[in-house]
Amino acid sequence: MKSRNRSKLIITILFGYIIMQFLWWEVLLVRQTTQISNEQQKLMEITSTDAGSLEKQIADLQHKKQNRIYMIVGEGTVFLLLLLYAFYRIRKASNKEIELVMQQKNFLLSVTHELKTPIAATKLQLQTLLKHKQLNPEQQEQLLTNAVNETNRLNRLIEDVLLANSADKELHLNKEIVNLSELTSETVSNYFPGKNVRSEIEGGISVSADKLLFPSLIINLTENALKYSPENSEVQVSLNKQDGKINLSVSDLGSGIPDKEKQKIFEKFYRVGNEETRKAKGTGLGLYIVQKIVEAHNGRIEVTDNKPNGSIFKISI
Ligand code: ADP
Repeated sequence: MKSRNRSKLIITILFGYIIMQFLWWEVLLVRQTTQISNEQQKLMEITSTDAGSLEKQIADLQHKKQNRIYMIVGEGTVFLLLLLYAFYRIRKASNKEIELVMQQKNFLLSVTHELKTPIAATKLQLQTLLKHKQLNPEQQEQLLTNAVNETNRLNRLIEDVLLANSADKELHLNKEIVNLSELTSETVSNYFPGKNVRSEIEGGISVSADKLLFPSLIINLTENALKYSPENSEVQVSLNKQDGKINLSVSDLGSGIPDKEKQKIFEKFYRVGNEETRKAKGTGLGLYIVQKIVEAHNGRIEVTDNKPNGSIFKISI
């Protein structure tokens, strides 16, 4: 049994035992009160000489017994409720803690992979260049371009980690009036050449935004759309303005996101599924950064299901 399941089981058994023990103690207390009251009544019956006053004394005694039982049950119930509440809070806190530890473990696993892959690839390209001096200029250029691409990938990963770190506090924006239509179409064509990314961009949309951070919204969402979709399936990037609102959406025909995960995916390090079994690589930082950048621009982001399958990420500003 995994250690987190074991600790959950131990906490549940411990609380179960405390509650049973407590209920048993309450039953014993009620029994004891009834017994004492019965003994007192017997004593009264033996010692009393006046039948009228005996009846009154017995009625008093019964009344006291009832009050005492109410008190035991009342106080017991409050205590039990407090105990259950404490149990609920402890379970919740320990689940959160376990989730965090899992996410950090996943992050370490994925970031190690994400760092190793471009380094190994770059090393291979450069070693090939060193070993095979007779390569023609095109081949040399191809190897160098691959190495530069891998270095860019590494650079983006490190930028993501740094950005996520600063997004924890507050993102500092350098806002200026940006032609969003041009920025979006340039980002798509510069970052996704040769990919099946279709853009539907309304012209002339401008907004006050951070020119350096804004493209990372488009890059992150489009990269995800391609990563979580079958090879060559179409991704669509749309930009339009409606009722004074600017809408930027990225839709795909991929695996889609289950409803219960739709909010969680924006949490830092959160990735759907388990790192050891997951095929698509990543760090769980992308959507966290996207949400922070959107919020810093006073916008909102939502994710819905695409038809017949896949997801639509829509940013409105
Ligand atoms: P990463 O892609 O590095 O894992 P993100 O923060 O970008 O991290 O995304 C978090 C998780 O959300 C992903 O691990 C994936 O499970 C899910 N996800 C994001 N975008 C999509 C998408 N377009 N389709 C399906 N799942 C997605």
